[in-house]
Amino acid sequence: MTAAPALFDSGRPSFSFEFFPPRTDRGAGLLWDTVRRVEALAPSFVSVTYGAGGSSRERTVDVTRRIAAETTLRPVAHLTAVGHSVAELRHIVGRYADAGIRDVLALRGDPPGDPNGPWVEHPDGLRHAAELIELVRGLGEFTIGVAAFPESHPRSPDLESDIRHFVAKCRAGADYAITQMFFHVEDYLRLRDRVAAAGCDTPIIPEIMPATDVRQIRRFAELSHAAFPEDLAHRLEAARDRPADGHRIGVEYAAAMAARLLAEGAPGLHYITLNRSTAALDIHREVLAGLRV
Ligand code: FAD
Repeated sequence: MTAAPALFDSGRPSFSFEFFPPRTDRGAGLLWDTVRRVEALAPSFVSVTYGAGGSSRERTVDVTRRIAAETTLRPVAHLTAVGHSVAELRHIVGRYADAGIRDVLALRGDPPGDPNGPWVEHPDGLRHAAELIELVRGLGEFTIGVAAFPESHPRSPDLESDIRHFVAKCRAGADYAITQMFFHVEDYLRLRDRVAAAGCDTPIIPEIMPATDVRQIRRFAELSHAAFPEDLAHRLEAARDRPADGHRIGVEYAAAMAARLLAEGAPGLHYITLNRSTAALDIHREVLAGLRV
């Protein structure tokens, strides 16, 4: 295998977009429409999340391979250790390599069903993301990303052990990290500074979640344990019957957050699209307009 080229140029902020594998034909239509719009912006990369189990996992592999084959985009394949033996994980990575995909986001994943339930490893599987990084590293030249948690991983007993395990992932061979969604810039800065103080300079890309629909975002924030700002919640709640206003409020909040993150030296921005282009692309447009000033 030849070496995988760097995923982004460290001298300029990277811009990237996240998709998920759709379940229906209508969902597939939305996804591919968004993929084409994103492609026109020539982002550094795009990523496709890995399903919790069964057919959604096959859809992840299909969508990722199709992006690689049919677009000019560089797809990063999310991969989790949940429910997989080491042999299965090797096989999936091999399928990506066969399709020319050399970029993997290595994750441990959460238990299927109840993401907050006890973690049960596969009898022939892996226990932590660091082991998956080592596995992928041993299979060839890949760029490997990992997850980072500005508000600490919900299962971590304290921030200190969370940072220690994050740094261990970086030392195991992670090239970069992407954060969990968060809504307060200070949480990102604290994580970044603590990681740097631990002697680790792995770039940590903040994930930007457009918050335009308060009910949907509260659900996501609960699942990811991200603290959702009450003032933003009130403003979105007040605009509940005026979707255009909700959209504007959410885009403005995220764009201001993104601009501050870049000003603070964040290496890039990773936008969650939910397979819809409007909010993420509007935020990106505002960010670019700000950078030109
Ligand atoms: P790990 O790094 O293994 O950490 C899990 C917990 O174990 C943490 O508390 C950590 O501190 C602790 N830990 C780590 N190493 C050790 C050790 N050696 N000893 C003791 N404790 C340790 N999930 C999906 O199912 N599909 C996706 O596509 C997906 N994409 C994601 C993308 C991003 C950007 C992020 C931030 C998360 C994503 N997730 C996804 C969710 C992720 O799988 C879960 O948050 C999972 O609980 C943690 O994964 P991890 O890779 O951080 O695990």
